Amino acid sequence: MLLSRFPRVSLAHLPTPLEHLPRLSKHLGGPQIYVKRDDCTGLGTGGNKTRKLEFLMADALRNKADVVITQGAVQSNHARQTAAAACKLGMDCELIFEKRVVDAADAYLNSGNVLLDRIFGANIRDVDKGSDMNAEMETLAKELRSQGKTPYIIPGGGSNTIGALGYVDCALEFLSQANREMIAIDHVVHATGSAGTQAGLLVGLKASHANIPLLGIGVNAARKDQEEKVYKLAVETAEFVGAPGIIQRGDVVANCDYVGPGYGMPTEGMNEAVLLLARLEGLLFDPVYSGKGLAGMIDLIDKGHFTDAKNVVFVHTGGSAGLFGYSDLLDTEM
Ligand SMILES: *Cc1c(COP(=O)(O)O)cnc(C)c1O
Repeated sequence: MLLSRFPRVSLAHLPTPLEHLPRLSKHLGGPQIYVKRDDCTGLGTGGNKTRKLEFLMADALRNKADVVITQGAVQSNHARQTAAAACKLGMDCELIFEKRVVDAADAYLNSGNVLLDRIFGANIRDVDKGSDMNAEMETLAKELRSQGKTPYIIPGGGSNTIGALGYVDCALEFLSQANREMIAIDHVVHATGSAGTQAGLLVGLKASHANIPLLGIGVNAARKDQEEKVYKLAVETAEFVGAPGIIQRGDVVANCDYVGPGYGMPTEGMNEAVLLLARLEGLLFDPVYSGKGLAGMIDLIDKGHFTDAKNVVFVHTGGSAGLFGYSDLLDTEM
C-alpha cells in the first residue's frame, strides 16, 4: 500500500506518541496498557478526525471547494476539527447539528466543542433529532451553489473511504513504532462510532499481516449494525487502497455493551474511567467516545477477556474539549 498516491494536506502533528501507562496497568493488574495519543494530533485541541481531514480536505481543495459542509451531534468533535481545518485552509465551514441530546444543559449547548466552533467562525444550524442529515447537507449545498459558492460535503465523522485513509495510516504508524520500540502488541482497542476509524485501522492491520485483533467499543448503535457499518466501509477502503479482498466479516468485532442509555448520555463506567485515567496518568478522555471505550476495555480486563495478552494498545481518539460541555453531568467526587 502506498498512501502517498492520495492527495493529502498536512493538518496533524504526526507521528503521535505511543505511550506506556504503567500506573494504570498496575492498578488493573492485567496486560500492559499503551495509548496511541491521537488526542495529540494538534489541530484545534486535536482528535481522530484530523487524520481523516488530511485526506478529505485535500479532496475538497482538488474539487476547488470554498466551503465545507458537515454534520454531527451538538458536541461533535468532528465538526470542531473540520471548522479548524477550514480556517487553516481559508475555506468557510457550515455545520449542521442534530439535537440528539434532549433537554440539554447550557454547558452542552454553548461550551466545549460548540464554543470552539464559534471561535473558528463556523456557521451553525440546528435540526431536530431524527432528521435526515445527509438530505439536510444536500439542501444546504444546493443553497450555497445558488449563491455562487462551491461546497464540499464531508460525511458525518468524516467516515468514507477517503477519510478512512487517515486510519490506515495510523495503523502503519503504530506498527512501525511498536516494531522500533519492541512492543509485541496483542490487542488494539478503541471507541467506534461512524466507523471510519475502525475500518481504516482494520485495513492497515490486515494489509500489513500484523495479525492483531482489533476491538471497537461501540458508543451508539447495536452490535450487528455497528459491525455491518464497519465491515462495509472496510471492504470499500481496502478496494480503494488497491488491496481488495483482504477483509473478512469475522475480522470486524464491535462490543456495544457500554453505550448505556444512548449516544452522548453519560454512564457510570465512563465517569469512573475518565476519573481513573486523569488521576493515575494525568490524561483526559471524553464523555461520549473515548471514556466509554475505556470503560469497556477496563471492564473486559476485569472479566479476564485479555488474560493471554501481554500488551494492549488503546487508541486515544481525543475529545477532551467535550468535557466542558458535560460539566454538570460528570461526577468528580466519585
Ligand atoms: C468520532 C470519534 C470517535 C469515533 O470514530 P469513528 O471514526 O467515528 O468511528 C472516537 N472518539 C472520538 C473522541 C471521536 O470524536
